[in-house]
Amino acid sequence: MNSFNFSKSDFFLISGPCAVEGQQQMEAVLNSENKPSLIRGGIYKMRTKKSSFQGLGNEAISIIKSLKKKYHFNYVTEVTDPRQIEDLLPIVDCFQVGARNMYNYELLKELSLYKKPVILKRGFSSTISEWLGATEYLSDLGENNIYLCERGIRTFENKLRNTLDLGAVIYLKKNHPFKVIVDPSHAMGDSKYVIDASLAALAAGADGLLVEVHPTPSSALSDPEQALDLNMQNELIKKLNRACPLFEKELRV
Ligand code: PEP
Ligand code: MN
Repeated sequence: MNSFNFSKSDFFLISGPCAVEGQQQMEAVLNSENKPSLIRGGIYKMRTKKSSFQGLGNEAISIIKSLKKKYHFNYVTEVTDPRQIEDLLPIVDCFQVGARNMYNYELLKELSLYKKPVILKRGFSSTISEWLGATEYLSDLGENNIYLCERGIRTFENKLRNTLDLGAVIYLKKNHPFKVIVDPSHAMGDSKYVIDASLAALAAGADGLLVEVHPTPSSALSDPEQALDLNMQNELIKKLNRACPLFEKELRV
């Protein structure tokens, strides 16, 4: 098992579905051509509407537990409530704090007590200073265990789901010690823009990506429009493999 740990020259791709929907779906991702080993997949989903799919909860925990016996992968998932931490600890290699919870300082304080890295997503309307302020609640983890994730912010622009703030990535990489990753899926909201946004994130100096991938996007129970299918994931990996050396990076999937 790799540890969730990257060097300065790594460019890492965390991929997987918005939500864990079943064992077969996850195995299709794990068995895909490039055998990704950095896997995302929501267990508890924070949906805008209560009537939307909320994630499989305990059932997803069991699925990931059994997959971890069969495959070697690092698993990233969102924790939405401190009461979930104990259940998630045995399966999670890196916790994710979602945009809706960036300001949930009690959750951040609780996560700082465990020795697991945390991806801290930027709030929808957070300034860079507020985002950096939130990292102080995680400081006991050490700067190497804090990953900032730019996932698009709300602006007056409304053609895309969000506005991908690559300026923030450039600023953070020049001024702060944290690893910075980009989620082009929630930023762009449409799979046809995700590969280009990913390449732009690499050029902006990001350390990695968090990308939604689903074996059959049209049947996804959440965020179907933005998920790459397995062929598109392949194309993304090919393009990143070609582009990484230009930026003195090596791709890790
Ligand atoms: C996610 O990555 O699953 C997610 C819900 O993203 P965000 O918190 O950025 O909306
Ligand atoms: Mn999603």
